[in-house]
Amino acid sequence: MKRIYTLLFFLTIISQLILAQKNDINGIPVSPERSRDYDAINYRVELSFDLNKKYMEGSNTITFTPLCHGLSTLKLDAQFLTVTDVLSNGTPLSYKQTDDNVFINLQRNYSYNDTVVITVHYYLDKEINGLRFIDAEGDRPEQVSSNCFPNKARQWIPCYDFPNDKVSQEFIITTDSKYKVLSNGKLISINENNNGTSTWYWQQEKPHSTYLISLSIADYLVVKDSLGDLPVNYWVYKSMADDVERVFGKTPYMIDLYNHIYRYEFPWDKYDQVISGYMGGGAEATSATLLGEGIVTDEYTEQDYYREYVIAHEIAHQWWGDLITCRSWEHTWLNESFGTYSDHLYTRYDKGRDEGDYDLLLKKNTYLDEAHNRFMRPIVYMDYEHPGDNFNRHTYQKGACMLHLLRHILGDDTFFRVISTFLHRHEFQAVTTYDFIKCLKDISGKNMDWYFDQFFFRPGHPVFNVSKSWDATKKELNITIIQEQDKWDGVPIYKIPVSIGVYLENDKKIVKEFWLKEKKEEIVLQLTSKPLMVRFDEGNFLLKEWTYKKDIDELLFQANNDDMTGRLWAVEQLDEYQTDKRTLECWQEIAENDSFWAVRAAAVSQVGKFYGTSNISLLKRAASEKSSKVRTAAVRALGDLKNPSLKDYYKQIFNQEDSYAVKSEALIAIGKCGNTRDISFLESAGRQKSYRDVVYNASQEGITIIKEKNK
Ligand SMILES: [Zn+2]
Repeated sequence: MKRIYTLLFFLTIISQLILAQKNDINGIPVSPERSRDYDAINYRVELSFDLNKKYMEGSNTITFTPLCHGLSTLKLDAQFLTVTDVLSNGTPLSYKQTDDNVFINLQRNYSYNDTVVITVHYYLDKEINGLRFIDAEGDRPEQVSSNCFPNKARQWIPCYDFPNDKVSQEFIITTDSKYKVLSNGKLISINENNNGTSTWYWQQEKPHSTYLISLSIADYLVVKDSLGDLPVNYWVYKSMADDVERVFGKTPYMIDLYNHIYRYEFPWDKYDQVISGYMGGGAEATSATLLGEGIVTDEYTEQDYYREYVIAHEIAHQWWGDLITCRSWEHTWLNESFGTYSDHLYTRYDKGRDEGDYDLLLKKNTYLDEAHNRFMRPIVYMDYEHPGDNFNRHTYQKGACMLHLLRHILGDDTFFRVISTFLHRHEFQAVTTYDFIKCLKDISGKNMDWYFDQFFFRPGHPVFNVSKSWDATKKELNITIIQEQDKWDGVPIYKIPVSIGVYLENDKKIVKEFWLKEKKEEIVLQLTSKPLMVRFDEGNFLLKEWTYKKDIDELLFQANNDDMTGRLWAVEQLDEYQTDKRTLECWQEIAENDSFWAVRAAAVSQVGKFYGTSNISLLKRAASEKSSKVRTAAVRALGDLKNPSLKDYYKQIFNQEDSYAVKSEALIAIGKCGNTRDISFLESAGRQKSYRDVVYNASQEGITIIKEKNK
């Protein structure tokens, strides 16, 4: 403690010296919500584009109201663009431009009763990230594509560029008539000019934040769809025509699902999705979501790599992020945790309970990986240098898991009433975590401060050590639960509910919920007979790590009888008893017969790892079953045997498979058992087109393995 005080004292002196810069004790800047002295009301952006010259010029007419008395200077964010003049009612105003801003002398004092309109003329002749001019290449047409997140609108529009302000906007875009132009809101008109150009007028009447501005220009194919009266369109490259229905066709159904879940009708004039040659994943621009080219995959990809959730996730942002918007970036989770939880809700609704549970498990593990390998920090976190720093697995996956647990604690009815009320109450506003907590209190009547304190304002997650014993004489089950996460700085002992499931003979099951509060808790249950299985966290509501040693009989029972998450866990835990004949029999049975692919795949991997050589025929059967993910696990397990006699089999698999993941495993397997004579096969196989070049990468890996062996 002493050392921290010294550091704090030292920092106090520093902060007095450098008033402008605030840092936490690790040297990371503290970035609170930005202050402003005016409220921007409307941006009327008129721009002309020349794609050949990669040049843009035009103006932004800004309508604003001061938030103070005596406003005489308007400070706008502006980077890279060059201001040429500023007018107010036709009168030129003097201005000063710096690297990051333009300061406009308003030539009189305005107060909060005034509505002021000024026009800033400017041009852009530099390459910037906020708006890219992209050359044609292969199937990709030449295009202009924006990416305003999180603070790049200012690179091509002089404006107030922070999410705590919301504005309406008009985009009046002139460009060569061969292009189509997409922006937020409603298309008011397209006018043909008599010089080979057209002017597209888009109006976004309802206010939103500047990072949600979207502009795309290209010779797109526009495929029209709808949900009732709501236009739903897909702006894609012409080469993607055959893929549109498969990739985007569920969009209206997803919107409809969220209309029902949130009990708030889709808030915008239309919903467009547009392909960008610039994006990696997606960006939820208001009513005009940008999606990277990688979203359009061929018919074979989805079986291995689940991409549909990205479409669902960005749709969910139309409410969570666009309708209500994090007021400043420490409240990012209001956008991303809800976006991520919503894509989970879609997966669960559309693909069924097991896929939903598996999705949740992946989200938990994705967060845990970051917690162990990068950092553990509160979800609501002001210590960041760039807003993007807050877009991480804490604000996406951990937050989504915490919403899932919150829903469990409140019950479905209350939880969904809270989130619906929150959207209605704060529609078209910028919001904070505190707004959400207040709404939760108002609607549920419950003070949930403790929940947010534990899981949103502090770092970490629970780590349980669970053990149990059975007293046959007293017929008592004793369960001991120890919370071990307080080994990490700032991570509390949690007040948390946990359900214990007790499985008895004749399919009898008892589920009891207990509230844990202390570091160590003992639970005693009086039963009629010794339980077959005692499940910790029945229903899998907690984001947790845990150790829970079980004997082989219980694990065998669990591997065959629990829910998907429990079966998967038991199959992996049976490692400990791998020498027991019953373990192999259990894995063999599950590898071929479990109802869910992830459990079968785990069992296949276990058989391969411990008994592969004597189970080649089982692994081969698994390598031809219906799920490509199980086939992938099977070919990987076979490959690990490094058995040269299987080489032709792998080549056959490669030639017959339609799954890129299985093909890739087959190539790596050839590398493991092959020699230099197989390199030509791998080289030619690597030329096959595949999702994210996974086949090419696998061929290279196979070749590297062979070369390593021959060193
Ligand atoms: Zn998102």
